[in-house]
Amino acid sequence: MATGSINVSVENIFPLIKKFLYSDHEIFLRELISNATDATTKLKHLTTIGEAKVEYGNPIIEVKIDKDAKTLTIKDQGIGMTGEEVEKYINQVAFSGAEEFLEKYKDSAKDAGIIGHFGLGFYSAFMVAEKVEILTKSYKEDAKAVRWVCDGSPEYTLEETEKTDRGTEIVLHIAEDSTEFLEEFRIRELLTKYNKFNQVPIKFGTKKETLPLPEGSAEDAKPETVEVDNIINNTNPAWTKSPSELKDEDYNNFYRELYPMQFEEPLFHIHLNVDYPFNLTGILFFPKLGNNLNIEKDKIQLYQNQVFVTDEVKGIVPDFLMLLRGVIDSPDIPLNVSRSYLQADGAVKKISSYITKKVADKMVSLINENREDYEKKWNDIKIVIEYGMISEDKFYEKSDKFALYPTTDNNYYLWNELIEKIKPTQTDKDGKIVILYANNADEQHSYIQSAKEKGYEVLLLDSPIVPHLIQKLEASKENIAFARVDADHINNLIKKDEPKISKLNDSDKETLKKEIEESINDTKFTVQLEDLDSTDAPFTLTQPEFFRRMKDM
Ligand code: ADP
Ligand code: MG
Repeated sequence: MATGSINVSVENIFPLIKKFLYSDHEIFLRELISNATDATTKLKHLTTIGEAKVEYGNPIIEVKIDKDAKTLTIKDQGIGMTGEEVEKYINQVAFSGAEEFLEKYKDSAKDAGIIGHFGLGFYSAFMVAEKVEILTKSYKEDAKAVRWVCDGSPEYTLEETEKTDRGTEIVLHIAEDSTEFLEEFRIRELLTKYNKFNQVPIKFGTKKETLPLPEGSAEDAKPETVEVDNIINNTNPAWTKSPSELKDEDYNNFYRELYPMQFEEPLFHIHLNVDYPFNLTGILFFPKLGNNLNIEKDKIQLYQNQVFVTDEVKGIVPDFLMLLRGVIDSPDIPLNVSRSYLQADGAVKKISSYITKKVADKMVSLINENREDYEKKWNDIKIVIEYGMISEDKFYEKSDKFALYPTTDNNYYLWNELIEKIKPTQTDKDGKIVILYANNADEQHSYIQSAKEKGYEVLLLDSPIVPHLIQKLEASKENIAFARVDADHINNLIKKDEPKISKLNDSDKETLKKEIEESINDTKFTVQLEDLDSTDAPFTLTQPEFFRRMKDM
């Protein structure tokens, strides 16, 4: 038996680990499962290139709770480690990793918001365990199995042990203050949160499965139930597949897999897939939003190689995308760092501007593919687009191709179409094009009507961010002005048509006037044959202001 001491520059790193990672103890499981997954993936690679002369088979990772022994075990069938490798990877890496951690984060760790998003890989096990055992056997020929034990002090033991199967078993002796991790529901919760889409199947207990009755069975035959592995993850989620393999239905199914509590189907999806200049895959969904600007948690989830990192994506993806749902997966999103680090990270910034561009491109193709369908969905997606337009310049620059401006008559114009349409009728005396809009079709009904009677188009812009959008448009587009349909100056803004001059000669006018006056026989009204506004009527009856007020009293 060999004993040794993990050489760290402080007396005992484990109290430090506990302290710094306090708010996020639960990530230990993700870390250990990630290591087990890596060990399995490495073996797959080595067998593929012929370096490992073993049968790869169908390896799984198993998570087991032993309540009596107070242990939680993570067992894999991956490459395993020789005694030397344990010395090298577990003992030494822990040393440097710990040193780096202490060096790098001793200042920022003061900031409570950052804590809890650090990870220390293997050593995060000591956040919940008072003693950790590693039982491992390398895939290498003649490798002897070894057992490493460490109780949280810098002392460890390493000895040969009995283990016949290849792979590694990490046994956590759960500490008194962490017994929640001996509860089945808690572990299931963690597996669902972090490892729902893990690359290697994860077994957690067993479940009963009913076998279908063989054909021709007797009517009263009882179907047979068998005990099968309870695999908690889907190793092949939709975003890892190529868009050409997937139908709309597959995307909708995946949406439900991601958000089991969402019953409404998404309106659109965007499949992200890039391998240069960085790797990124993912699927974003447009839910039905209406005018709802609530940015809630857990809409977009960040993954790194199919391992959940975070759903707190503020500062990582542009705000307007936080209205969407879906998954973004990139190996360039570091797993083991704080959120403030992520926000400042160059790779993450690039990812964010790539996604913005991708969403803009998708909008262009959606509107071009099926304008009618896009118009139908506009009211449910506009908030995302408008938010993107006011907050991301790159997105705004492209928005003329996909942002719609609906009228109160349900016409949906692109910017250029709108301008084209209203230019002849809605140019004011200074040559400015006046865009009339309403923000509440009911309240502004009569104003909308009278504007329409004059032949004007009235936009219906009713989302809560419209004032900002208008500001942005007015600041960047030449020669236009927005005017609310009930603003009292709209008549000055828009050039009135020349008043219509009666085509009748003076004596005809006299005769006509007399005839009308006689037939209505009411002195309240005046017959007007000139200055006919824009109507095509040959005369207008007007009622003096005085009589009108009398009537209203
Ligand atoms: P990282 O995973 O970032 O390398 P860790 O502290 O999580 O850091 O793990 C340290 C090293 O220990 C790994 O790189 C790997 O070489 C080894 N290791 C940990 N767990 C396993 C395992 N289940 N099977 C084989 N090797 C492992
Ligand atoms: Mg690791």
